[in-house]
Amino acid sequence: MNTSLDRRRKKPEWPAFIDLSKYKIKAHHVHIIKERCKECEWCIIYCPEEILEKSDKINVKGYHPPQLIEGKTFDDCAECHFCELICPEFAIYVEVPEEEEGSENNE
Ligand code: SF4
Ligand code: SF4
Repeated sequence: MNTSLDRRRKKPEWPAFIDLSKYKIKAHHVHIIKERCKECEWCIIYCPEEILEKSDKINVKGYHPPQLIEGKTFDDCAECHFCELICPEFAIYVEVPEEEEGSENNE
């Protein structure tokens, strides 16, 4: 059953006249510094794209750090930086690649 939330999350189709192969978008990356995590789960709870989950792994402090949900990719990340703002342990951050010189994204 499709909820209104599912409908809102559905990504729009790009118009056929836009050649997406001309626009290279480098993927950003969500870094998790596992040993700093204290398993408060705030990043998991408040991620608007719901791409994080608690992992089965245990860090040196005995906590389960977050991980990317299977089937999700970093392309699903909205790059909102909310996880890094909300993490009390500075254990997660988002790296956005610099634009390549001459990239068509700069136009
Ligand atoms: S940057 Fe935003 S969308 Fe990406 S993992 Fe963090 S909270 Fe989720
Ligand atoms: S917000 Fe930080 S400390 Fe809390 S679960 Fe996420 S990475 Fe770990």
